[in-house]
Amino acid sequence: MGSIQNDVADLPAMKSNPKFIFFTDFDGTITLQDSNDFMTDNIGYGKEKRRAGNLACLADEISFRDSFRDMMDSVTRPYDQCIQYLVDNIKLDPYFAEFFQWSLQNNVPVVVLSSGMEPVIKALLEKLVGPDASKMQVLGNYVGAREGKSINEEGGWEIQFKHPDSGFGHDKSVELRKYSSLPAHVRPTMFYAGDGVSDLSAARETDLLFAKKGHDLISYCAREDVPFTVFSDWSNILEKCKAIVEGKTTVKAAAKEGYEAYKSGAAGVNVATAK
Ligand SMILES: [Mg+2]
Repeated sequence: MGSIQNDVADLPAMKSNPKFIFFTDFDGTITLQDSNDFMTDNIGYGKEKRRAGNLACLADEISFRDSFRDMMDSVTRPYDQCIQYLVDNIKLDPYFAEFFQWSLQNNVPVVVLSSGMEPVIKALLEKLVGPDASKMQVLGNYVGAREGKSINEEGGWEIQFKHPDSGFGHDKSVELRKYSSLPAHVRPTMFYAGDGVSDLSAARETDLLFAKKGHDLISYCAREDVPFTVFSDWSNILEKCKAIVEGKTTVKAAAKEGYEAYKSGAAGVNVATAK
């Protein structure tokens, strides 16, 4: 076991001794559309099959990794063309850039934890946020060439998982535990934002989970009794984070409010069908 200094040194987001860190999903959370769903629906095997895979995954009938690999295998367009297609079509949440500037000014590092592929995420962030995007740490899956091919030819690429032995492909809890296991005097308060099945491995690991209104992650959190608060866009997240960082409310109070909003039907998910 390394010393505390060594543990912290392995974590770039700890360099500025932050009191708060914001971990976030990328697709459908920072972006308005899920880029992998978008590719699958439009240039892969289509929405119907993709949605059936999502639901099978939520019902524990197939692992996220296997259903996601199926989706990506159905997209055969050269990789550089896939990236361009996404850069041309995917839009950012209109308030994310404002949140991100606030995070930079208030020493709240943002760490992107994604089940998507790092080259796609970095290209989209650079287009959508500009040069400051490089200040965000991005951890996702990778892309590789199929045997005898290059990624930029038809049928030439495949997804390569960060944690191939995990049913999550990229088990987000692995990275989160590096922070949650830090000694109390250095451990930052951990936020997480997500929307869907790729966030199930992260849902239990942070202090306050923001789950996107009307999306799959809420159903899961309600079923598994994971505390969460609901967001519609990043202006909600910014408002809540500001209040917490400024000491006007606590993470616990925010989670309690979120649960009550869900119970009253304000989360956009029917309580009876989520169970
Ligand atoms: Mg997502």
